[in-house]
Amino acid sequence: MDPIVGTADAPSTDFIREAVAEDRRTGKHGGRVLTRFPPEPNGFLHIGHAKSICLNFGVAAGFDGACNLRFDDTNPTKEGLEYVRSIQEDVRWLGFDWGERLFFASDYFESLYSHAEQLIVDRLAYVDSLSADDTRAHRGTLTEPGRDSPHRARSVEENLALFREMRAGGFPDGAHVLRAKIDMASPNMNMRDPTLYRIRHVTHHRTGDAWCIYPTYDYAHPVSDAIEGVTHSLCTLEFEDHRPLYDWIVKHTRQPARPQQIEFARLNLNYTIMSKRRLLALVELGHVNGWDDPRMPTIAGARRRGYTPEAIRDFCGRIGVAKKANVVDIALLEHTVREDLNRRADRALAVVRPVKVVIENYPDDRDEQVTAVNNPDNPAAGTRTLPFSREIYIERDDFMENPPRRFFRLSPGNEVRLRYAYILKCERVVKDAAGVVTELRCTYDPESLDGTTATRRVKGTIHWVSATHARDAEVRLYDRLFLSSDPGEGGRDPLDDLNPDSLERVTGCKVEPALADARPGSRFQFERLGYFCVDPESRPEAPVFNRTVTLRDSWARISRQHPDPAAPGSRRDAG
Ligand code: ATP
Ligand code: MG
Repeated sequence: MDPIVGTADAPSTDFIREAVAEDRRTGKHGGRVLTRFPPEPNGFLHIGHAKSICLNFGVAAGFDGACNLRFDDTNPTKEGLEYVRSIQEDVRWLGFDWGERLFFASDYFESLYSHAEQLIVDRLAYVDSLSADDTRAHRGTLTEPGRDSPHRARSVEENLALFREMRAGGFPDGAHVLRAKIDMASPNMNMRDPTLYRIRHVTHHRTGDAWCIYPTYDYAHPVSDAIEGVTHSLCTLEFEDHRPLYDWIVKHTRQPARPQQIEFARLNLNYTIMSKRRLLALVELGHVNGWDDPRMPTIAGARRRGYTPEAIRDFCGRIGVAKKANVVDIALLEHTVREDLNRRADRALAVVRPVKVVIENYPDDRDEQVTAVNNPDNPAAGTRTLPFSREIYIERDDFMENPPRRFFRLSPGNEVRLRYAYILKCERVVKDAAGVVTELRCTYDPESLDGTTATRRVKGTIHWVSATHARDAEVRLYDRLFLSSDPGEGGRDPLDDLNPDSLERVTGCKVEPALADARPGSRFQFERLGYFCVDPESRPEAPVFNRTVTLRDSWARISRQHPDPAAPGSRRDAG
């Protein structure tokens, strides 16, 4: 694995690493560090999860520890094997390795159950039979204490008998719950006798019909952490108020290990939603083409879009880990991707909206190859040859019949350089009956081949492909999925903020010949257009390219104005 974080000797870089380093100094947890990444398999991983993955695996790697991948599969109604598979694929793709440390909370169901019986015996849990409405009424409010349920005083024997009957399937959903007996007057609502088990007659994707009672997150999570010997249980801020409960469960289930919960701010990105429930709705309602649609903020979507794992890890490093919630500007993510692709992506010529150019003074039968640089930022990438011929395509908007001042591309009577090739002059415009330009009749300067000593200079350079050699391709141009920087702001439905033009599929694009045979996943910079990658659906006879990012870097502009790296993201409270 890449050395993503500092080692134990390196200075800590955030409050969590500082806390872990301090625990190592004082010998807490015997000096061990064991973290876990605990996804619920109810959706694909998103870029927010990447932050948690980088943190958990990064802290482990930085302190000679280990990190478990644990599926928090305690809510079978929304979970499935498709997600178990995709999550593993995505964590691996991001560059992290859990080795043998793959776990499922469902593997602990028996143990969780016996700990629950023990809590009953210790008079720390009881079966409650209030209706959902009555439970709510007894719960109190933030300003008023709750009231004890009439069932709170049930005997150990009665509780045990009821709980066993719950497990045996003797009751319908919702008839009873198991609750911890803590304090109905606690100012912390989470401590007002929280639910530990619910009856749910549903089939679980791993345990089948073995169980019809399922533990809650608040109960299963600390026990699972303790069973695995997790030392630092890193979670997002919304669990801060659950920490006293976490500690209560660890203590009263008499765990030999004492995992410690530490909260950090979740990643929020503007123009993006990250709730899995909402992402699922986008998929199910057909607003996107699946979880791996390149517009989705999922890891699978980012991969298909052409992001690299290195760029995502780099981004997670740049945003850092803090206690205070904020919103990160998506321009920073795009900037990071661009920086990474600039180094690794070979250049290529592609014309997305072609118009034909006939070079009248170029010999009909001439077969010429010009030399192109693969990556000016990486000389090791070398050069390649491009076929040049009498008929070429250029980008339709690189020509203007009546150009404004300072238009340095092609126009009647004007000259422009063809990248890696010759200087071209437009002589005549051919139009159809509707007045649409169908062809440009041009001449070239045979003495102007790029790279030769005699080269003249002209103001503009445009890209092109040889018409006889070019291959047809489809190019998919992606824009933001949401128009609002805060989709769903003020209680609106985020779907109302969807960008209707987030995907534009352009067919009839012309690409340099070798591009059509590039393997799916290969990444290129189409000169002057942006970074693109070959879609998994692409075939040599029907190549498809996804635009990863354009070349316009709004982050570089913003960060020149605000050198403080945190400045561009507007702040808001934890959501
Ligand atoms: P969602 O709210 O999107 O449904 P979740 O928190 O329910 O996400 P889990 O599968 O439980 O999803 O998340 C696994 C881990 O990833 C948890 O430890 C969670 O805290 C962390 N995580 C989820 N979203 C983010 C985020 N936006 N930023 C950082 N960590 C996150
Ligand atoms: Mg969760």
